[in-house]
Amino acid sequence: MILFHGFVFFLSLIGCHAIPVERNAECGYGSCNPVKDDMINVHLVPHTHDDVGWLKTVDQYYYGARNIIQNAGVQYVLDSVIQELAGDPSKRFIYVEIAFFARWWREQDESMQTLVKGLVNNGQLEFILGGWCMNDEASTHYNAIIDQHSLGFEFLRQNFGECGRPRIGWQIDPFGHSREQASLFAQFGFDGLYFGRLDYQDKDTRLNQTTMEMIWHGSPDNLGSKADLFTGVLPNLYQPPDGFCFDIFCDDEPIRDDPRLHDYNVDEKVYDFLSAVQDQAKHYKTNHIIMTMGSDFQYQNAHHWYKNMDKLIKYTNMMQTTNNMKVNVLYSTPSCYTYQLNRADKTWPTKKDDFFPYAHRDHSFWSGYFSSRAALKGYERETNTFLQACKQLDALAMLTDMHNNTLNIQVLREAMGVVQHHDGVSGTEKQEVAYDYAMRLANGRTACQKVMNDAFAKLIQKGSEGFMGVAFCDLLNISACEVTQNNKQFVMVVYNPVGHTVSRWLRLPVIGEAYTVMGPDNSPVQTQIVPVTKRTMQIPERNGAIATNELVFKVSIPALGFSTYFIKMSNSKPTKEMQQSRMEKIQGKDFIMKNEHMALTLDGNTGKWKSLKDLHSGIEINVTNDMAVYYGMPGNCSRGDFQPSGAYIFRPNGTAPSGPSSAMLIKGPLVTEVHTSFSSWATLVTRMYTGEPYTEVEWTVGPIPIDDNLGKEVVVRFMTDLKTNSMFYTDANGREIITRKRDYRETWTFNQTEPVAGNYAPVNSRIYIKDDNKGLQFTVLNDRSQGGSSIQDGEVELMVHRRTLYDDCLGVGEPMNETGSDHNGLIIRGKMFVHSGTTDTAAQFHRDFALRQYMAPLPMFAVTDMKYSDYSTYFRTMWSGLKQELPPNVHLLTLEQFGGPPIGPVDTQTYLIRLEHFYEKGEDAELSQPVSVNIQDLFVPFSIVGAEELTLGANLALSDLNRLQWQAKDQYVRDKEDKIYKVEKRVPLSSALDPVMLNPMEIRTLQVTLRGGFPQRKENKFDVFS
Ligand SMILES: [Zn+2]
Repeated sequence: MILFHGFVFFLSLIGCHAIPVERNAECGYGSCNPVKDDMINVHLVPHTHDDVGWLKTVDQYYYGARNIIQNAGVQYVLDSVIQELAGDPSKRFIYVEIAFFARWWREQDESMQTLVKGLVNNGQLEFILGGWCMNDEASTHYNAIIDQHSLGFEFLRQNFGECGRPRIGWQIDPFGHSREQASLFAQFGFDGLYFGRLDYQDKDTRLNQTTMEMIWHGSPDNLGSKADLFTGVLPNLYQPPDGFCFDIFCDDEPIRDDPRLHDYNVDEKVYDFLSAVQDQAKHYKTNHIIMTMGSDFQYQNAHHWYKNMDKLIKYTNMMQTTNNMKVNVLYSTPSCYTYQLNRADKTWPTKKDDFFPYAHRDHSFWSGYFSSRAALKGYERETNTFLQACKQLDALAMLTDMHNNTLNIQVLREAMGVVQHHDGVSGTEKQEVAYDYAMRLANGRTACQKVMNDAFAKLIQKGSEGFMGVAFCDLLNISACEVTQNNKQFVMVVYNPVGHTVSRWLRLPVIGEAYTVMGPDNSPVQTQIVPVTKRTMQIPERNGAIATNELVFKVSIPALGFSTYFIKMSNSKPTKEMQQSRMEKIQGKDFIMKNEHMALTLDGNTGKWKSLKDLHSGIEINVTNDMAVYYGMPGNCSRGDFQPSGAYIFRPNGTAPSGPSSAMLIKGPLVTEVHTSFSSWATLVTRMYTGEPYTEVEWTVGPIPIDDNLGKEVVVRFMTDLKTNSMFYTDANGREIITRKRDYRETWTFNQTEPVAGNYAPVNSRIYIKDDNKGLQFTVLNDRSQGGSSIQDGEVELMVHRRTLYDDCLGVGEPMNETGSDHNGLIIRGKMFVHSGTTDTAAQFHRDFALRQYMAPLPMFAVTDMKYSDYSTYFRTMWSGLKQELPPNVHLLTLEQFGGPPIGPVDTQTYLIRLEHFYEKGEDAELSQPVSVNIQDLFVPFSIVGAEELTLGANLALSDLNRLQWQAKDQYVRDKEDKIYKVEKRVPLSSALDPVMLNPMEIRTLQVTLRGGFPQRKENKFDVFS
């Protein structure tokens, strides 16, 4: 440990020099400032934490606009820091959020860009993390996390090359940490991850046990060491030690070092600093410690910081000679620090669960934001699908840049990148900023619609007859769509972004009572008319939509392709294909809803569920459902037990399950629904479609009443008779499953202070419970990220909407009170999908369904009175982009034209492809097996002649990746049976002709060249932000 030889604070000021700096004019670990192996090395990391939207919008933060809200202007940070770095080669700075850096970069002239490139090349300015933002980890989907990082990486690759490639994850502010994020970081090629926030009990334990730094197994059961990541918890969130904030906005004392002046304080400052060093060093394993010198939007005047840090370094290091003090202070970066830890040759402790939920003190669990702003969360998830479809269609149609398509896709890429921020999709921003995020997504979708129309023009058109173009309906979930409700005849083109044939039930808002629907081959499609309910009609965001009915039918779409449906209002008598729904009040008698797969019994008085039978296994479980309200705790935050519920925090103060008042049955041959009102503002539809192995539950919540001055947080609950032994299971960012146990934490003895909020976990796509004795699994999938838990054995609940009347005192300064377009309180609608069956068949359902749900088909509409015969002469009515479907356990995670210059010696436009095995090991007897895909001749529009495997972030040839190797305490990853488990070896890809082998949960990222090639598209696509 640390060797302090007593403090003698009498410093001679004569003859002192700044520390000599040996320079190595290259980036990477070789460019780090030198350390002294026989001393405690204090790595000062100058940094700024720039939220990509929070109290102000991203652009207000960039310019320093509306400083009355928060004095923060990122442009000044970069202006100022660059000058400081240029003046002294020993100085270091890290920059993190590329959304901001890209804004600044495009404003700089060539000489400034040359200067900055020089600073990057010599390691003085280092990009850390390198995502478009520092994404939230609880409510983000892995697809969007990979995309937002790839976007930032691509900016850096195009502008800075290898020296701009980030090596370290830097999640200093997100409110809890996901294991999947660690896994993705490892696959990006990162050598380490640092963060600031973890449960206060966990932190105490780690400080005491010197386990602040560890190897995190990001995928212990699947990817093994490939997903291992060195992870460090920062000592002081991401702030400097107390008394050493030298920012222009800080009140700490500057170092006053002229003894001729009053208040000379060098001795005192150095003493305090050495105390801080000693305090910190005793909790960390090596003779290196890291100090984060910066905070939110700091360094607008970088000189304040650097002038004082220069003195701190100088006077502290002087004591090496004057006092034989073994402390060496240096300017450093997280990667230089990581490199030294790696050199230290230690064996590190390990972890294989996650860091959710986060609590900063008793009663203060940050599990509210898992569900905050449920509408924004839903819109973001749906917009991810839109972006994937847009990129796919651009690639499949092989669009050149004629209509600025590169740029138009970029608008949505960047919008999605911004919204992933930890005060974006998390829902912890101010209301005005939430509106700005939604507007960015809407603008991005509009831009992408142009691309999709260009693509359809090419893919649909057979001859010279121009395609009429399609319109999009964004409000189908509230039964509003201009084309379908205002026209008696129209066509619908449905695009399927999944590499398998997909069928799906669609519901189109219409005004007629009967319609003929003809499929792509002109054969009639069965339909059912279901009335739009009063509840839906009352949603103000419908904005006068006139639809009175929903036209329900099932579409089938080939892999990565489209199908066309011809829809016409019918004046003649309804045929056997056209079915009307019958409406009945349920009164007294239990009702059984049944299809080929299951039978659900509902209570005749309440409409609540009673039992659900899986007709395949014949097993029946008792299950009932309801909606319940948690009242938000009021409080002033002065202590843990005075913590109110707010945008971040979930702090319930009692519950009130609402009793159902009425139930209405809507019956028909295709779909049967039970509409249950738990109150005028909380309603459920239980829905069973013919042929589907799940029950759909549509919830509509709002306006949440607040006239009693109580905030309310609404959950949908399912209560089964399964024996679950406190266990439940939730997904991490839509990928691997995390096992959770109520009132328990794997790595420390947990003292629970909030029996509900402290058991909440992020649920991005699914939550389930199991009865291992009966071999049964009860799974609930959702359509957006939510918080969820199993508060009692046999139960599952998901929080769907919340309205809080208190600010929770964590900075946002507002209650989470969304009022909607009529200012009465926002109404939100969403869906859950319930599956009950045997454990050995459960994965096959939930893996496949989760994929089809997040990559749901996109319906688009065109008004035309063309007959089928004419339409099908001029246009394709059905098309697939794949020559054969992908294997059932493989997902085409990415298909896009690759933006910048290709990686490696290629001179034509390249494509980026990511293939994913989306099953975990052991989940399914067949589908969890390794699988291979032949990509050479897979796609219809093009064949592939070359492939280069890249890291997951697509910024480096995988063969060039060389991660630091670490010694972990349990070097062997153990499987569930606790046998030593050998990680499947990756089969290297030697050429495009080789099949791509995929192991469970493996994603492989390929840059491919196409036969014949085609000219490079516009390169500099980083000049939009909209
Ligand atoms: Zn932040």
